[in-house]
Amino acid sequence: MSSSAGVSGFKRICVFCGSSSGNKTVYLDVARELGDELVQRKVDLVYGGGSIGLMGEIAGTVHTGGRNVIGVIPKALMPLEICGQTIGQLIPVDDMHQRKAEMARLADAFIALPGGYGTLEELMEIITWSQLGIHAKPIGLLNVNGYYDPLLALFDKAVEEGFLSVAARLILVSAPTARELVHKMERFAPVQDKNMPKLSWETVEAPNRSRQQPRGMCLAWVSQNNSCTPCKV
Ligand code: AMP
Repeated sequence: MSSSAGVSGFKRICVFCGSSSGNKTVYLDVARELGDELVQRKVDLVYGGGSIGLMGEIAGTVHTGGRNVIGVIPKALMPLEICGQTIGQLIPVDDMHQRKAEMARLADAFIALPGGYGTLEELMEIITWSQLGIHAKPIGLLNVNGYYDPLLALFDKAVEEGFLSVAARLILVSAPTARELVHKMERFAPVQDKNMPKLSWETVEAPNRSRQQPRGMCLAWVSQNNSCTPCKV
């Protein structure tokens, strides 16, 4: 991944993060810090589409900074995770699976900020897709305030106990600040391990869950006038 003069080699980064704000200001601060980093590096944001918690904070920061914000959200979650105005462009999808598939298709790297079960689930799935060889996009953990220390310790324990290969452990990059993390991800080289499988999306998905399906079905909901237009992403 090449970059020059602070401009990233990434076009769009998908950020997984909490629908809550946490109970320390450091979490909202780091969401803004990452948003500013994306703006400075001219990177657009793909995220879960909500306007609450850390999701709302990073989306607002990136949108205000003038970059594109694309939210992907299951229709059923819209009343729960969007309050007031939507931020940027919204892609409503049918379910959680389509949300993750669409976010993965749109982004060329992934970052997890602190969050709860939802964030962890999204992070784990994108890591396991990499482990299966479905993609080789960089995945970063923003380990602010040591929030993810116990998770990283668990991964190291899994290597020690023979449940994770060293190559698989290297899929995940982590750093305590947004700047360091994006910088590390820019230099990330996909893990080469002949023992790791090379599956494609089509191999692991049932025919009625094609990767293309969400794109064909979804509508881009443009917040400015709340009107639906065919998805142009
Ligand atoms: P949380 O970290 O629990 O606050 O959740 C963060 C986001 O993850 C929210 O937008 C949830 O809707 C979303 N989420 C929860 N479970 C899933 C899932 N299985 N697939 C995709 N997104 C999910």
